[in-house]
Amino acid sequence: MVQRVGIVGAGLMGAGIAEVAAKSGADVLVWELKQEAVDAGKERIEKSLAKAVDRGKLSAEDRDATLSRLSYTTNLEDFADREMVMEAIVENEKIKKDVFAQLDEIVEDKTAPLCSNTSSLPIQTIASATKNPERVLGLHFFNPVPVLPLVEVIPALTTSEDAVEKAQSFATEKMGKTAIRAKDRSGFIVNFLLVPYMLSAIRMVEQGVATAEDIDTGMKLGAAHPMGPLTLADMVGLDTCAFIADVMFEEFGDPTYSCPPLLRRMVQAGHFGRKSGKGFYEY
Ligand code: NAD
Repeated sequence: MVQRVGIVGAGLMGAGIAEVAAKSGADVLVWELKQEAVDAGKERIEKSLAKAVDRGKLSAEDRDATLSRLSYTTNLEDFADREMVMEAIVENEKIKKDVFAQLDEIVEDKTAPLCSNTSSLPIQTIASATKNPERVLGLHFFNPVPVLPLVEVIPALTTSEDAVEKAQSFATEKMGKTAIRAKDRSGFIVNFLLVPYMLSAIRMVEQGVATAEDIDTGMKLGAAHPMGPLTLADMVGLDTCAFIADVMFEEFGDPTYSCPPLLRRMVQAGHFGRKSGKGFYEY
């Protein structure tokens, strides 16, 4: 079983993946762009672990052991000895491809799986940036990673069964997630259904059909969803929602997936949802 893992990015998702991997007993090295981002990611993980202790879900000893298994770097070269890497940086094709090309050179064990947490980019697109595309696959976790038990496993056409098996068994047997498998198509299973739903809710606000509050109340009380689509969009991050919509629209050419102008304007205004303090709601 994989023991030394690397996590690229310590934003919302990277921090969550790092936390769960470290809790599972793995040695986890987290990369971020610069020191301030490392500090922010570290704080995110520490706060989440503290919350778990307060809620009685984690003992103080397990928290300390988890923290001792986490280390941080701003130098991707430090990933040379990693047995598996999980990438969770911004949903941008060029940036992800650049990082995978570097990882492929740096990670010495050429059978070590290189996984992307992309929400919408086809895995083959990312794999094409590497010289060893057989080790690239999608491993798509859900937000918040310490709470939601699902992982989507997405092999590209070129991915080896060995890489899939190593990555999937780490995500299921170590991290405790339930895996579902999808073909390599933008949105995979969950976002193919969820993204058009959130975009439709944004269009309803844009067209003045109903308020964000009433739409969310409608779906909570009328469809038994734990949260409404606009609360969910704020939680995902409106910038991330817009990136995903753009990629899915490019893949399918269907207006169902196009980014509504209101979403674009909110992102331009810096209203990214919960993580920036303002989206459809204020935090
Ligand atoms: P985030 O905005 O919280 O974090 C973005 C990360 O990208 C940060 O670590 C940041 O330092 C890094 N980054 C930004 N610009 C960069 C650059 N030029 N080079 C390298 N790194 C850069 O985003 P997030 O919500 O954690 O999303 C990360 C990935 O996870 C995306 O691919 C997203 O689609 C996917 N994802 C998000 C969710 C969600 O609910 N937010 C769920 C599943 C998957």
